[in-house]
Amino acid sequence: MENEKQDATVIVGGGHAAGALMTALIQKKYPHEVVLVGEEPYPPYQRPPLSKTYLSGEVNEESLYLKPRSVYEGAGHQLRLGVRVENIDRDNKTLTLSDQSTLKYGRLILATGSHVRRLNAPGSELKGIHYLHDIADTDTLRDQLSPGARLVIVGGGYIGLEVAASASKKGVNVTVLEGAERLMQRVTGVEMSSFLYAKHSGSGVDVRLNTAVTGFKAGDQGRVAGVTLANGETVDADVVLVSIGVIPETALAEAAGLSCEDGILVDEYVRTSDPSILAIGDCTRHRNLFFEKMQRLESVANAVDQARTAAATLMGEDKPYDSAPWFWSNQYDVRLQMVGLSQDHDERVMRGSTEDKAFAVFYLREGCVIAVDAVNMPIAFMVGKQLVQHRKSISADVLSDLDVELKSLI
Ligand SMILES: Cc1cc2nc3c(=O)[nH]c(=O)nc-3n(C[C@H](O)[C@H](O)[C@H](O)COP(=O)(O)OP(=O)(O)OC[C@H]3O[C@@H](n4cnc5c(N)ncnc54)[C@H](O)[C@@H]3O)c2cc1C
Repeated sequence: MENEKQDATVIVGGGHAAGALMTALIQKKYPHEVVLVGEEPYPPYQRPPLSKTYLSGEVNEESLYLKPRSVYEGAGHQLRLGVRVENIDRDNKTLTLSDQSTLKYGRLILATGSHVRRLNAPGSELKGIHYLHDIADTDTLRDQLSPGARLVIVGGGYIGLEVAASASKKGVNVTVLEGAERLMQRVTGVEMSSFLYAKHSGSGVDVRLNTAVTGFKAGDQGRVAGVTLANGETVDADVVLVSIGVIPETALAEAAGLSCEDGILVDEYVRTSDPSILAIGDCTRHRNLFFEKMQRLESVANAVDQARTAAATLMGEDKPYDSAPWFWSNQYDVRLQMVGLSQDHDERVMRGSTEDKAFAVFYLREGCVIAVDAVNMPIAFMVGKQLVQHRKSISADVLSDLDVELKSLI
């Protein structure tokens, strides 16, 4: 038994990447015991519904779990939940946990995810200012979103906009404050930003662009009463959500002396600078053969793909990470699906029209399709995945011609 424990493969973190890795190892009949140590009290769960259907109350907590706890334990593995890994002693291959126990590992996988970026401004300690990252955060926020309440969201990215959509559907008065000149500027092109702006404004959300937040105004009993802006205005608020991005959780890896640079550095086999330690998910800056440069991604697809790569590496298979990244978002009746990274495009091609509420934007670089954003057009996303993965060269005329069947392009 002691020997078995020493050889255990330990996963640090109990999020999407950790759960996907456990599942992949079970499917591959991995011959060693796996111990997952997760700080949160829940078995591995999916976060996307936290700003969508779980926030709106359409689904319950159990439906978020990737698998029931019994699936992992039934396969002979352990979940140690509600416990944090505090230290990695690489020389002795031993972890120290927050309950003061120690745990030996044979192979170690870091799946520590990310934490929210905080807005440190005057008044940021006031009650009623929220961040959204876990189940408990959504539970607390949902309780405050009664019809007529004034919700101010700082940040017009994916999560801020999804919450805006969920809350406005419930009759909450929503204001979105975005510092940039357009919504989701970091991840999408002008057409999509304009479409989302129109969608939110048309649903009664007060969207303010080019708006810098300077702090929070205090009301009674230490509660927030407003958000102050650089132009001197104050936007009244009963509840505030700050959603300004995440920071990779690298503290444990850095303290252990692993190479980190805005993420734990891993190669295409998800190996860190220590050959017995792998890292996957939001916490990594990784090499993916699909890209020319090291990349950091915050998405379920990346968490799952890297988990599969880790499972292959642990099984001794030669399967490097080589996938085009993809994302999705649901806002109102809009199903947005995105594949590839559009930032470096030199040409954009529209297929369909925003008025039809079903369209796609193809992003090209030197004639090759490098990314596709599809709204309510799943076929454009599915075909786009193939085009982007194989960097297909297709003319703008063909992509925009609705008489050309997209399927014929692959
Ligand atoms: C509200 C919300 C909506 C989202 N919507 C989408 C979406 O629509 N589409 C999409 O693709 N992505 C979405 N994402 C992003 C996606 O959920 C993440 O990219 C994904 O969860 C990353 O998985 P991960 O396992 O790397 O990290 P996480 O899921 O963050 O899990 C990391 C876990 O590790 C634990 N941990 C950290 N340090 C330690 C330690 N020292 N000891 C023990 N445990 C530790 C943390 O507590 C956490 O539970 C969303 C995220 C949020 C928050």
